[in-house]
Amino acid sequence: MRAAIFHGPGSIDVEDRPDPTIEQPTDAIVRVVLACVCGSDLWYWRGVSSHAVGSIGHEFIGVVEAVGADVTGVATGDFVIAPFIFSDMSCPHCLNGSTLSCVQGGNFGNGEIDGGQGELVRVPLAGSTLVPVPGSGHTDAMLKSLLTLSDVMATGHHAAVSGGVARGDTVAVVGDGAVGLSAVLAARRLGAERIIALSRHPERQKLALEFGATDLVEERGEGAIQAVLELTAGIGADAALECVGTAESIATAGAIARPGSTIGIVGVPHGEVPFADTFFHNVGWSGGPAPARIYIPDLLTDVLSGAINPGLVFDYETDLDHIADAYEAMDQRRAIKSLIRMGS
Ligand SMILES: [Zn+2]
Repeated sequence: MRAAIFHGPGSIDVEDRPDPTIEQPTDAIVRVVLACVCGSDLWYWRGVSSHAVGSIGHEFIGVVEAVGADVTGVATGDFVIAPFIFSDMSCPHCLNGSTLSCVQGGNFGNGEIDGGQGELVRVPLAGSTLVPVPGSGHTDAMLKSLLTLSDVMATGHHAAVSGGVARGDTVAVVGDGAVGLSAVLAARRLGAERIIALSRHPERQKLALEFGATDLVEERGEGAIQAVLELTAGIGADAALECVGTAESIATAGAIARPGSTIGIVGVPHGEVPFADTFFHNVGWSGGPAPARIYIPDLLTDVLSGAINPGLVFDYETDLDHIADAYEAMDQRRAIKSLIRMGS
């Protein structure tokens, strides 16, 4: 099979990898239909976070080609969504909602284990990891929305859930990348009345408004903080959702959260979280990597009904041969999120 191989910052190409086979009776083999590039992949591309040489990519949907003898709940021929990690859903951590800490779990596309940016993936713990999609003949737009459940939409939802977004709330979303935009959509889905999107890019503002934002703030840093406080009569947001992870965005979220609230933080922190600054406002920080597998069933219902259309975050598309272009488009901010369409 052919798969993207990460060689180091700014260097990715497509090479042959051995076709995966069933190694454990709990494995399945999935033929990838659509994959995409994650904001976290960009950290590797830019050399900000390290990544082993080898397989990469952890967001994909596809068709099950084979299952091991012990796999239940998923069968050959099923169209499935893969959450960005695999997990057993039965250990104490999974049962407590922290699937990333699964005692048997692990990451796709970590250099060794097959990545989503490839033609085939061996999925460990397949029965508890993969989510079959009911129905058939889904439109391309629907498939794109299904793909977002693998990570980005689940992560935006996690920001909103972690921030305790409730009906009638005023929510401020820091970050207008795909995760931030998904957080806007998730906040609206949970009933937020007012959603302030911090965004300065016209095409992202447009999507934020389509996803349910009611106010836009173009300033950054101190200017953004003042703007949000003005919009909230000096009180701050009921839920500030941090969807970037830079020192500036984290500080902004800390400063616009109203006293007594919880900040939903899903941007991987690349700066200090100013806990001491928020301590005296009784503001908490909650979030981390999304337990996508737990969220997928509910979000899937809303995608299939057409209630939400998170696939609109994809504004750049290419094939596996042009995987480097997919990274570059996001790195240069020409694209919000890049889709990889696998050859059939
Ligand atoms: Zn587990």
